[in-house]
Amino acid sequence: MNWEIVIGLETHAQLKTQSKIFSGASTAFGAAPNVQACAVDLALPGVLPVLNKAAVECAIRFGLSVGANVAPRSVFARKNYFYPDLPKGYQISQFELPVVIGGQLAIQVGQGDKSYEKIVHLTRAHLEEDAGKSLHEDFHGKSGIDLNRAGTPLLEIVTEPDMCSSAEAVAYAKALHALVQWIGICDGNMQEGSFRCDANVSVRRPGGLLGTRREIKNLNSFRFMQQAIDYEVKWQIETLEDGGRIEQATVLFDPDTGETRAMR
Ligand code: ADP
Ligand code: MG
Repeated sequence: MNWEIVIGLETHAQLKTQSKIFSGASTAFGAAPNVQACAVDLALPGVLPVLNKAAVECAIRFGLSVGANVAPRSVFARKNYFYPDLPKGYQISQFELPVVIGGQLAIQVGQGDKSYEKIVHLTRAHLEEDAGKSLHEDFHGKSGIDLNRAGTPLLEIVTEPDMCSSAEAVAYAKALHALVQWIGICDGNMQEGSFRCDANVSVRRPGGLLGTRREIKNLNSFRFMQQAIDYEVKWQIETLEDGGRIEQATVLFDPDTGETRAMR
């Protein structure tokens, strides 16, 4: 019995601005922990976030490069949740009115005779701030929190569920990675987390309704993306063929075992 694979990608591209999205604090990578988080990044009482024009210009340049609609007016919203690396209790993001709506990217999949072109449709791209970072090493069983990254501008680029294989997902991610660097909005450094992808994966019977998706978080290498999707697809098909059900979940890929497993 055959299955169809359905994949949609969400990519966080860190924008190449000097300062943060709502404050004047530096975005330079590699500083000592917590020296680049100012009162606005921490949302101390009485602070006023002021939008960084350069971040909006990056988003507009991206929208134009993919033939999207650039919203003349877009709106920020608070996404409320508490997490150790988000002690202020909310992330400023865009929800109802994102800056970039629609658009598409042409990708080349595979090499030689079997290669083909495909169009991947974009749903939206919105501006948001990054959170801080939890550090689990060097703390003797405790975790450290570095808030330097808090408030760093991100463009989250969301695709329609248009991709049908790990090869297509990787081809899209590589094309997007090249594009954001070429138009000068992101340095593309995946080791430093400047370009990271979440892969939403489901399987279904050919032509049937969309299956339940599981979302593989924070893939920061193309090789891991391919391995993670291949493992996830195999796991979902085996689960369904054994009579099980797929529950919607967020999963992490473990490069050491080559497996994905539920996060929360
Ligand atoms: P969330 O913000 O909760 O992750 P979104 O509606 O923004 O939800 O969707 C995230 C991504 O999941 C999009 O890229 C979308 O194309 C993809 N997606 C939605 N449904 C499915 C599905 N059934 N299978 C695979 N991908 C899907
Ligand atoms: Mg998601």
